[in-house]
Amino acid sequence: MLLLVFSACSQEPMVSDFSFETMGTVSSCSLVLPAKLPATEARLVVQNSFEEVNKTLSTWLPDSEISRLNRAPADSVFHISNSMRACLEASYELNQKSEGAFDPTAESLMRLWGFYRREGRLPSAAAIDSALADLGQWEFDSHSQGIRKTKPETRFDLGGIAKGLAVDQAVEKLQAAGINNGLIDLGGNLFCMGGAPDRSNWRVGIRDPKNRDELFATLQVSDKAVATSGSYERFVEIDGRRLGHIMNPATGRPAEGLLSVTIVADSAILADGLSTTLFVLGPEKALPFLKAHYPTVEAVLVVPGQNGHRAKVIGTHGLQGSLGLMSGFEAEYKLEFAKQKY
Ligand code: ADP
Ligand code: MG
Repeated sequence: MLLLVFSACSQEPMVSDFSFETMGTVSSCSLVLPAKLPATEARLVVQNSFEEVNKTLSTWLPDSEISRLNRAPADSVFHISNSMRACLEASYELNQKSEGAFDPTAESLMRLWGFYRREGRLPSAAAIDSALADLGQWEFDSHSQGIRKTKPETRFDLGGIAKGLAVDQAVEKLQAAGINNGLIDLGGNLFCMGGAPDRSNWRVGIRDPKNRDELFATLQVSDKAVATSGSYERFVEIDGRRLGHIMNPATGRPAEGLLSVTIVADSAILADGLSTTLFVLGPEKALPFLKAHYPTVEAVLVVPGQNGHRAKVIGTHGLQGSLGLMSGFEAEYKLEFAKQKY
């Protein structure tokens, strides 16, 4: 979770900046307030939206909807809320298009590798096979608003997409309250509403995947969601190696090959889901996948340098003019743009 904001200058109009902890991460917001709307009210709109999603979709809360679903037996219909439905429909689409790279049931792999205990252990090949057999054994029930697990051990973890949904829901509620300009960041899942207070684009920073305390690149956007996934965000250490919390269902192992992926899309749920998906797909498949299935979405891939070369920061064609390295990072990173038009 990775992006931080450089707030634009906040002279006129009234800008409210605030941060708080939620959904296991930090949210930072900068909202341009319409006249008469108190800052405390705007803040509550955002906080309540996030809390609502958390209460429904957090696997850390034993009574959340997702925890109840995970304990549910196979072959009975489980009725789902609108938030759960939105996440599962988006997840299903990503799963189908990515041929399984994105999988909302990667829970068994996360558990096996020790991500919930935050203590890694190298599983045996047999244990990996057994965890893989628990993935994806569920379906939408065509007669009701529910879903059905077809294997009791199939368990959901919507950590790859739920923060995006939460951001979209907060944006909708802010707009209903009359806020059309502002920036919301929920642990690296951003939505840039309208323009910045000086009416220019929002300028957001991308975290340096080699040093998460620093920003190394900037993007200029307006009315777009921006999400970043990186293995540096949560990891376990096994035999001195750091393994990140994004699992590759094709291997049953933590995904490798990219340092981070940033997505610029129209909705935060799509940006969040796609950043995880492209991270799993890796450096060769990520951009062809985007071109085939999401041609209007832009991406930034950070690819590790080989044989002492600089790491590559590859932007899609449409980001020319809005993506740049911050000064001082040219020695470590080489910025280039994909030649194809997306
Ligand atoms: P962050 O949580 O840092 O914002 P992501 O959005 O990339 O990062 O989500 C990573 C989370 O997604 C993991 O912590 C886990 O909950 C879930 N996850 C892991 N592997 C997969 C996968 N292959 N498909 C979908 N979700 C995954
Ligand atoms: Mg994600």
